[in-house]
Amino acid sequence: MKIARARLPDGTIQHALVEEQGRLRLIQGDLYGAWRATDQIVPLDHVTLLAPVAPPNIIAIGLNYRAHAQESGAPFPERPVIFLKATSALCDPEQPIVLPKMAPHEVDYECELAIVIGKRAKHVPAARALEYVLGYTCANDVSARDCQQRLDKQWARAKSFDTFAPLGPWIETDLDPESATLRTRLNGVVMQESNTSDMIFSCHELIAYLSQAMTLLPGTVIMTGTPSGVGFARKPPRFLRPGDMVEIEVEGIGVLRNPVVAES
Ligand code: ZN
Repeated sequence: MKIARARLPDGTIQHALVEEQGRLRLIQGDLYGAWRATDQIVPLDHVTLLAPVAPPNIIAIGLNYRAHAQESGAPFPERPVIFLKATSALCDPEQPIVLPKMAPHEVDYECELAIVIGKRAKHVPAARALEYVLGYTCANDVSARDCQQRLDKQWARAKSFDTFAPLGPWIETDLDPESATLRTRLNGVVMQESNTSDMIFSCHELIAYLSQAMTLLPGTVIMTGTPSGVGFARKPPRFLRPGDMVEIEVEGIGVLRNPVVAES
């Protein structure tokens, strides 16, 4: 089942099921509680798709793919490396990623599988962790590498510029998160391609670990880390430029597309 969040022609924002033939079926109720599908159908090309949730927190995991830890010159972490992205960085499908005036030169893409938490989770055992998941979506953990690697002592600014958290195009509820193929295409060229089976800490381990530290509220987004092939590690490096088109694909979910612009 695919669940989107859309701005309708009348300006209202609603969740909807994505059906065949490019149709949305509106749903009524609480996405994290009781809801039902209605008889209201809207063509997909009559709406603006939004990031599928407005998360209370965006939690992200660093260095979680073996090949990416290697290309970063970092040892495999002994426990998950956790950081936060500001929720104000959320970016809708097709909405431009803005290269900030403050740090425009080393902005990089990172394709990631994002977990969307479906019910409040605290001290969840790993064996039951996936029961707390609503579904999965595509994420781009956009990162200003100069801030991340040289200028700041931690990652908050580098990871939280406005538009640095593209999410979507919708949530897929039926996906095996531990064998999903994901890739980045930049202007149609594949830059990253891997499978979540290369993760150092898998989704159920991440949820269990995080839930020991903080309550995972419904709608929380967990970006689970990126595989190898990011721009800074390429020779020569390839950072995002105005006019680029970035596509993040997770097979079984869909494609998240965002153009790139300079801050005006
Ligand atoms: Zn990342």
